[in-house]
Amino acid sequence: MDNHVDLNERLALKGVSRRDFMKFCGLMATVLGLPMSFAPRIAEAMEKKRPTVVWMHFAECTGCTESFIRTTYPWAADIIFDVIDLAYHETIMAAAGDQAEEILEKTVKDNKGKYICIAEGAIPTKDNGVYGKVHGKTFLEIANHVCKNAAATICVGACACDGGVQAAKPNPTEAKSVSAVTGLKTVNIAGCPPNANNMVATIVHYLLLGKLPALDDKGRPLFAYGYLIHDNCPRRGHFENQEFVKQFGDEGAAKGWCLYQVGCAGPETYNNCPIIQWNQGTNWPIRAGHPCIGCSEPKFWDDMSPFYVQK
Ligand code: SF4
Ligand code: SF4
Repeated sequence: MDNHVDLNERLALKGVSRRDFMKFCGLMATVLGLPMSFAPRIAEAMEKKRPTVVWMHFAECTGCTESFIRTTYPWAADIIFDVIDLAYHETIMAAAGDQAEEILEKTVKDNKGKYICIAEGAIPTKDNGVYGKVHGKTFLEIANHVCKNAAATICVGACACDGGVQAAKPNPTEAKSVSAVTGLKTVNIAGCPPNANNMVATIVHYLLLGKLPALDDKGRPLFAYGYLIHDNCPRRGHFENQEFVKQFGDEGAAKGWCLYQVGCAGPETYNNCPIIQWNQGTNWPIRAGHPCIGCSEPKFWDDMSPFYVQK
């Protein structure tokens, strides 16, 4: 079937009109730092290609999946799940048990070197990885099999990117990142959780240009993690004027002053939260009066805590 017709029909069944789809493509152009004139090209790329994707869950809380699938506007998850061929995702697939495992094995075998692996969660390595298993296999074995046979592995969330809370001190299971365990160079969509628009834009970039985006030295896409929170923060003027919130609920908090003295890690954290915001662009932590806790920086649970004191 013509995927152009196919995609539009499938989206229409979900209540996503062509106009909504084009708005989504415009948003993706914005997130990727491209001119709005790229929106039709993004639409064209998404209509034509259907890469096979497997989404693996390792040691995690499923918050990254939740961040992704709970987007309601502009229906990022609905759109992207119709654009890709999602062969395996434990949270949302209908199959279970042996049947699910057969699907995974067949996908890896039939698409060796061609599919994209999205990895969520850290890999426990202590005692040969016995602290994380699915279907009798350790996450260690699964990651080395599924990620190493993929064309590329995209890590979503702090746990897959650098071990996350699983690897925080004292790290009882000796949890590690997917990259540390497999030796692969992964694309790291950092954050706890990451913003769904950054996850989707990475896939859209692949569909549009046939390659993964340029990365920083921590494997994070530069389009999203190329600037400090501090540099785009609307409270920055108050930082320069030395106007600080001293404690939550004080006069400075009421006036929207800088949160640096109550622990804001914005000066050390790379992410695009001030630009694309959260909850469909409704708001983001600092605008809501909460300091950035540095969730897109490696080892932030150890290195940025305690969270509510000046760094
Ligand atoms: S609130 Fe945080 S990110 Fe914003 S100006 Fe102050 S220190 Fe920088
Ligand atoms: S503001 Fe900071 S802690 Fe909050 S989501 Fe963005 S990077 Fe993470």
